[in-house]
Amino acid sequence: MSDPKIRVRFAPSPTGFLHVGGARTALFNWLYARKVGGEFVLRIEDTDQERSTEESYAAILRGMEWLGLDWDEGPGAGGDCGPYLQSERLDIYREHIDALRTDGKLYPCYCTSEEIKGRNLAKGEDAFAGYDGHCRELTTEQRSAYEAEGRDPSWRLRTPDQDSTFWYDIVYDKKEFPNSSLTDRVVLKKDGFPTYNFAVVVDDHLMGISHCLRGDDHVSNTPFQIHVYQALGWTPPKFGHMPMILGPDRKRLSKRHGATSVEEFAGMGYLPDAMVNYLALLGWSAGGSGDEVFARTELIKKFSLKKVNSSPAAFDYDKLNHINAQHLKRLEPAGRLRLVEPMLAERGWELDPAWLVPAATTSDYLGRVLNLLGGRFSNLLRVPEQIGFFFSDDFAVEAEASAEHLAGEETKTWLTGLAAKIEAAAPVDQAASVEIYDEAVRAFAEELDIKAGDLIHPCRVALTGTTRSAGIFEVMELIGAPRTVARLRGAAAQ
Ligand code: GLU
Repeated sequence: MSDPKIRVRFAPSPTGFLHVGGARTALFNWLYARKVGGEFVLRIEDTDQERSTEESYAAILRGMEWLGLDWDEGPGAGGDCGPYLQSERLDIYREHIDALRTDGKLYPCYCTSEEIKGRNLAKGEDAFAGYDGHCRELTTEQRSAYEAEGRDPSWRLRTPDQDSTFWYDIVYDKKEFPNSSLTDRVVLKKDGFPTYNFAVVVDDHLMGISHCLRGDDHVSNTPFQIHVYQALGWTPPKFGHMPMILGPDRKRLSKRHGATSVEEFAGMGYLPDAMVNYLALLGWSAGGSGDEVFARTELIKKFSLKKVNSSPAAFDYDKLNHINAQHLKRLEPAGRLRLVEPMLAERGWELDPAWLVPAATTSDYLGRVLNLLGGRFSNLLRVPEQIGFFFSDDFAVEAEASAEHLAGEETKTWLTGLAAKIEAAAPVDQAASVEIYDEAVRAFAEELDIKAGDLIHPCRVALTGTTRSAGIFEVMELIGAPRTVARLRGAAAQ
């Protein structure tokens, strides 16, 4: 038996930015394709001419590229099943519409949406309850009369009223809808464009899509699409509907909750790998040990459609921050440097050569700073602020840290004393080594008969402005002896 190739697709409508919900759907398709060695198709569903825009199309591609979700076929990548923009496939749709029309499977509908809504309301139903079949059995005379009024028809698919339509959803298992609850939907609009529900079927079939994985907001479209497949004599793909993404308040994720577009997250200093990792956890879990920080390759290895959950997933910004911090920590030093250097260059951070002891260039120096801080960054955008004290004497001192550690008179005498010891231990024009600073601080603490920590805490605030930093002796080495001494004296003089 031949094993048909697995082909999946992401089919966004270019009517807005790449939203995290869409990105998560794209990601699950991509992960599945990469896992099984299948193909991932990108198709742009721009049949809604009023709402589709060029900007949105470009933004979606940028978002996909930033996330690193490369597509095997689609805009820019080519492929045998193109074009991949629905607006360029109108002839293909027309051909299939004509075939259905010839078979008598479609009928013209002359109703306006106002008329349909009005009739629904008059029956005490919701205005958007759906189409009531008004034009289903029009006589030739009735049709001619409507046409004589100058009405252009839309075309609807005649669907069965008896029995039910069902499928075995990859996520929800069996989904079944009585046909009596489904209405004859439009396949060709008055403007001559096919509807989404028609074009999606033609494209998924002609593009050889084996698995249609999409958001669960499409569950209600699926039975009608199955009717379209049946009318065209085609076998539907497997369907899998991905759970909804909610905000922390368990309401559908929206702008109210904060950033929702992928590009916003990019601008907020998140790493694409972290975003991909976090999005993968929205509705899917790897199971097992509980560790949720995965490199892209690990995600591909672990991903399984069987573990996609049907309950809605809540977007948790704290968890995203945590995962981002973990990815920053896991970066190779060279990778971290590559990300941070342009940010500093943009801010015009060029070091005075005096700072470069003990490094040869600004880049070497920055590399040492980043290595020292290792993974202590939660977000790329905060890095310049977090490393500012390595580049300038004009750095912010946290008020609370200062009040707690630098206010006492005794502390000030300690800092003045320590400055003198360091000046003596290390030639002032040199960086000195970690050991020399370490010894100087510990010996002075002993002399004062206090714990080394009691001296190190105020020293850290004086040198870095915060209570949390990397090893203080390494900091001293990097900023150099003259600055260490000056900052200790400066803090004592406050
Ligand atoms: N174009 C549809 C949307 O953006 C997706 C259709 C589908 O995946 O079937 O919601």
